[in-house]
Amino acid sequence: MKIAFYWAASCGGCEIAVLDLNEKILDLVKVADIVFWPVAMDVKYKDVEAMPEGHIDVTFFNGSVRNSEQEHMAHLLRSRSKILIAFGACAHEGSVPGLANLSDAGEILKKVYGEERDATVPAPITTVPEGELKVPQFYDTVRTLWQVVEVDYYLPGCPPPVKLIAAAIDAIVKGELPPKGSVLAPLPSVCDECPRTREHKKIKSIYRVHEKVPDPERCLMEQGIICMGMATRSGCGAQCLKVDMPCTGCGGATPNQSDVGTGMMTALASILCLDAEPGKYTDEEFDRLISQIKDPVGIFYMYSLPSSILRRKVIGK
Ligand code: SF4
Ligand code: SF4
Repeated sequence: MKIAFYWAASCGGCEIAVLDLNEKILDLVKVADIVFWPVAMDVKYKDVEAMPEGHIDVTFFNGSVRNSEQEHMAHLLRSRSKILIAFGACAHEGSVPGLANLSDAGEILKKVYGEERDATVPAPITTVPEGELKVPQFYDTVRTLWQVVEVDYYLPGCPPPVKLIAAAIDAIVKGELPPKGSVLAPLPSVCDECPRTREHKKIKSIYRVHEKVPDPERCLMEQGIICMGMATRSGCGAQCLKVDMPCTGCGGATPNQSDVGTGMMTALASILCLDAEPGKYTDEEFDRLISQIKDPVGIFYMYSLPSSILRRKVIGK
């Protein structure tokens, strides 16, 4: 069996998660040759280009697609792989790199290089003694892997939990993968794995994590701290909740949800009684409540802006 790993627009945590498999990685190495893994092996893109179609059995592709090099590699690895797995939240839903969709390429380059940026910075081509260095085209919009090429499986998480990676490897080795298109994570939400008690209490105020010391036994949402657990797939063991931090949604959407952010906003409106009791709040009280939600896109779409119905901010030229 031939396996490949690739790293596109991401932080690199998914690559570390592979190493976190520890001795489990030996099971993989026993049955598989790793034929491409730029972070760990000296294999060139031209070596992949020379491979026949379908040469690689399984490619784990992490990262979203935000430039022409990553787009080329997505197409190349798709054609060379029998099975392509969107590995991690960035390839699956766009994740944190996808928050760049609140800007466009021009705004980002201006921010990095300054207002007076020369149009040639960064230089598209630089000549060096060894040849030409080409900077890939930097796109306006960050895309998920499945928005660029057909994806066979999704392994969510930021990074994917070791338990889920190990289960996926077991399934690959035994030839027991589920039908194509499946998300290789449990169906229930993080709330189902969360040890905290839910009392179906309503709230009157919203707090950021540093503004309140929460009761460690009770649901954070019912203590006014926004927690994405009810809209997020489980599989991580609710690990953030075990250290008093809310779920931020890295496990991706629970099944049958068209948009995580709108689902969570509806849930929040319900717990604040904004839906059930019209007229309960005056306009001023309503504004006060809403103004407590700092950075709503960063909260509700931290991992899913490119795959959401919003997708990106429209920027007038
Ligand atoms: S909303 Fe968060 S804190 Fe509450 S039960 Fe769900 S995962 Fe746990
Ligand atoms: S609790 Fe939520 S944010 Fe934390 S690891 Fe699990 S899915 Fe990700």
